Amino acid sequence: MFRSVLIANRGEIALRILRACRAMDLRVIVVHSEADRDASYVRHADAALCIGPAPAQQSYLNGAAILLAAEVCGAEAIHPGYGFLSENADFADQVEASGLTFIGPTAQSMRIMGDKIAAKQAMRAAGVPCVPGSDGALPLDPSAAQEIANEIGYPLILKAAGGGGGRGMRVVEQESDLLAAAAMTREEARRAFNNSAIYAERFLRHPRHVEIQVIADSFGHAVWLGSRDCSLQRRHQKVLEEAPAPGVDAESLARVGERCVEACRQIGYRGVGTFEFLYEDGSFFFIEMNTRLQVEHPVTEATSGLDIVQMQIRMAQGERLTLQQSDVACRGQAFECRINAEDPDTFAPSPGLISTWEPPGGPGVRFDSHAFSGYRVPRHYDSLIGKLIVHGATRADALARLRVALDEMAIGGIATNLPLHRRIVADPDFIRGEVDIHHLENRLRVRNHA
Ligand code: ADP
Repeated sequence: MFRSVLIANRGEIALRILRACRAMDLRVIVVHSEADRDASYVRHADAALCIGPAPAQQSYLNGAAILLAAEVCGAEAIHPGYGFLSENADFADQVEASGLTFIGPTAQSMRIMGDKIAAKQAMRAAGVPCVPGSDGALPLDPSAAQEIANEIGYPLILKAAGGGGGRGMRVVEQESDLLAAAAMTREEARRAFNNSAIYAERFLRHPRHVEIQVIADSFGHAVWLGSRDCSLQRRHQKVLEEAPAPGVDAESLARVGERCVEACRQIGYRGVGTFEFLYEDGSFFFIEMNTRLQVEHPVTEATSGLDIVQMQIRMAQGERLTLQQSDVACRGQAFECRINAEDPDTFAPSPGLISTWEPPGGPGVRFDSHAFSGYRVPRHYDSLIGKLIVHGATRADALARLRVALDEMAIGGIATNLPLHRRIVADPDFIRGEVDIHHLENRLRVRNHA
C-alpha cells in the first residue's frame, strides 16, 4: 500500500487531489512547469519539483520527466488528474513498469475504451445500450459501406475510432454525400489520431448528455454513483453540469446503471470512470467511457456525500470497495459552473493578473480553485480557473443558491465567463430543466444576431 503520491497535473484538480491526499495523511509530491511555480498548492505539497518549461509538451505531457521526479522524490504512486496523461495507456504502463502505482484503471482497460469501436463492442457485450450503428469499422468497399449506412438511416454521424475532444466527427445528411464524407473523415483521422478506422452511427437530433459515474475495486465489485446531466456545452465543451440528470425516470436510470456496473466487471475495470450517454425520448445511447476522474465529479460528491477522489485513491491502494449499491444515496440537486478565464461573448482566452478575487460562500456552496487575488493565469493551458458547486434540497433550492453565489462572486483584472453563467441561470428553459446539447449554442447564436 503506497503512502506517497505524486500529482502529475496542475490547476484546480492538482489542488483537489492534494486536499484528498493530505486528508488521508499521504505524503504529497507536486510537479509543476515554470509557469506554475507560484501556484498556491505547490506551497502545500511536502515536496515540489519543476519538470520543465511552460508548454505542456515539455512539462505535464513529458512522462519521462514526471517519472524521474517520482524517483527523485520517492513517490510510490502517480495521480494523473484529468487531461494531460490521464488517459494515456503507454504512460500507465511506464508508471507500473517503474514499480509505481498508476492511480487509474489498468492500461488494458484504457486501451479498450480509448478505441471507440472496441469500446462499443465491449459495451454491447455487457448489454449497455449503444447508438445504433455499424458493428465494427465502416468497410472500405463502397457498396458494403453504403449498405450499412442505409441500414442505420440518414442523417448519420461518422466518427474516428481514435477520436476524442469532439474532433474526428462528421454528420452525413444523405446517401449521395456518404463516400466523400467517409474519405475525408478517414484522412483526418489518420492525420490526427494515426488511426484511419472510422465507424458510423445514427445521428440523434435533440439528445441530452447524461452520464453515469462508477467506481470499482480490483476484486470485481463495482457500484454506480448516480447520474449527471452535462447538456450545456459549447463546441462539445461542458460549461455547466448538474446531478442528478433531471426528469430521467428512476427505473430506466437504475437499469442502465446496472449495465454499466456489469460492463466494469466484464472488462475488469478498476477505479473511477464515467459512462457517457446521449439520452433522447427516454432512451439511453452509450457514446464513450472516460477512464479517469472528471472535472464535474463534485456534483456527484454533493448528492452522494462521498469523497470520490479519496475513494479513487483507496481503490488504487488495493482496498476492497465496502460500499454496496443499496448504500448509495442521491440527496437533493447539485450544479457546477466551470469558471473560465475567457471573454463571455467571444470566448477568447483571457490570461493575466487577477486583481479582484471574491469567491462566494454560504450553505451548500463549494468553490474549488487554485486562483487568488494576485494570481497570474498562464496563457499556456486551458482556461478553467475554478468551479462553483452548489447543492440544495431540491432543484429549485439549488438554483436559488446558485443565483446568489454567482451574484456574490467577483473576479477582476481578467475577463471570465461569469456573465454567461448568470445568463444561463436566468434562462427559463434551463430553469425548467431537460435542455438538449444544442441549447446553449442556439441561445448564443440568437444573441449574436440580436
Ligand atoms: P469525443 O470523444 O470527441 O468527445 P463523443 O463520442 O463523446 O466524442 O461525442 C462528442 C459529442 O458529439 C457528443 O457529446 C454529442 O454532442 C455529439 N455526438 C456524438 N455522437 C452523436 C450522435 N450519434 N448523434 C448526435 N450527436 C452526437
